[in-house]
Amino acid sequence: MTRKHVVNKNDIVTLHIEDLTSDGNGVGKIDGYPLFIPHVIPGETAEVKVVKVNKRFGFGKLLTIFEKSEHRVEPDHQCSGCKMQHISYSLELDMKYNQVKNVLNKVAHLKDINVHPVIGMDNPWRYRNKVQMPIGERGGRLITGFYRERSHDIVESKEPCNIQHEMIDELVDRTLQVMNNHGIKAYDEKRHQGDLRHIVIRIAEATNEAMIILVTRTKTLKHKNKIVEQLKQQFPHVTSIVQNINSKRTNVILGNETNILWGESYIYDEIGDLTFAISPRSFYQVNAKQTRVLYEKALAYADISEDDIVIDAYCGIGTISLFLAQKAKHVYGVEIVEEAIADAQLNARLNKLDNATFVQGAAEDVMPKWTKESIQPNVIVVDPPRKGCDESLLHEMVKMNPERIVYVSCNPATLARDLAILADEGYETKEIQPVDMFPQTTHVECVSLLQRETI
Ligand code: SAH
Repeated sequence: MTRKHVVNKNDIVTLHIEDLTSDGNGVGKIDGYPLFIPHVIPGETAEVKVVKVNKRFGFGKLLTIFEKSEHRVEPDHQCSGCKMQHISYSLELDMKYNQVKNVLNKVAHLKDINVHPVIGMDNPWRYRNKVQMPIGERGGRLITGFYRERSHDIVESKEPCNIQHEMIDELVDRTLQVMNNHGIKAYDEKRHQGDLRHIVIRIAEATNEAMIILVTRTKTLKHKNKIVEQLKQQFPHVTSIVQNINSKRTNVILGNETNILWGESYIYDEIGDLTFAISPRSFYQVNAKQTRVLYEKALAYADISEDDIVIDAYCGIGTISLFLAQKAKHVYGVEIVEEAIADAQLNARLNKLDNATFVQGAAEDVMPKWTKESIQPNVIVVDPPRKGCDESLLHEMVKMNPERIVYVSCNPATLARDLAILADEGYETKEIQPVDMFPQTTHVECVSLLQRETI
């Protein structure tokens, strides 16, 4: 019998770990054939069971570590969301730096760009201000936890997640208890039956306010008033209790309809000297401390003076826009989510800034309209979701001819792709500052400064 691969499924092999992928797996090779293995660190030697073999690479499961890396730290517990918990924070930051450098080099052939060391946190734990917990059922009672990797089975979490804010632990536990006391059923994904799909909690670190969002399959929520009463009694910090209805068979967590069950339609947070109202479906950065660092860098790169016209594309609830508006003549923000635009307009009023205009729509549709209206920005800031900017938007920015572009990105791969396109069109990336918004995970955020080349 001929062997198809250097290794076969279920083989036990010992190998040296040479590298770490951008999704947190260690890489070791057997006669040049790479195996990807979770929970191992470059420099370690490990015994591994081969669990999957593809043509050009395979996957392994860690059995024993023979030589431990000096960067190995014992995680309190391991869950699929946090792939870097076994790695020291200094190595994690180095890995993130390398991830940015590598991707710029490979995807965009931009190897000479000045990338600064990643700005990390003094305490890289307990930073998340939002959680979205899926609900399941065991023995007739509601449970919550995290999805097992590559599945929708819920692993019940016995210990609190140590990247989420302490205040959230109790809010999740007690909300679940209250729902249990009232006989609420968990949503059953397979049969598309049952009531409660997710409990989403949002807190605002600066004001201590909290919002509870109960995501249900239908409008009906039995014992609604009693549930609200009990939640209110237990948590003085809760200022908003909301029901969101998601009747679709989908992985998207929030549905289109939101009803305020009690309290305010927003929670309020503060960044620097600005206040922001945040409604349930609007995007808001999850790490308050690092958001400030990120925005300060974006502002420094934008280098606004009082005569400047600025565009903030993908503006969410207008956070970056309003920081810019404190310095600029006028700021135009564009964002696709209607509620977020309503929040942005409210936030401008709350902060007494009357030089910001917010428009709802896809940035790639709205920006050409602005060009037609002869809006000529000196600076454009973009902060797109993971898939990056629509290519037509990149061309539109170039057409608008700003002196500077500040590109805030949560995905180095699409950032590199977009910087390469902009480089071809005359915008040179001067420097990139990665900021660690998501410690213990493989994600890294970057702020980039691009300048129009002078001919
Ligand atoms: N700058 C904001 C939001 C960044 S997140 C902040 O720091 O909080 C990216 C935002 O882009 C989200 O609010 C999302 O709703 C919005 N978005 C996604 N696709 C878009 C598109 N095509 N046009 C405009 N906005 C979009």
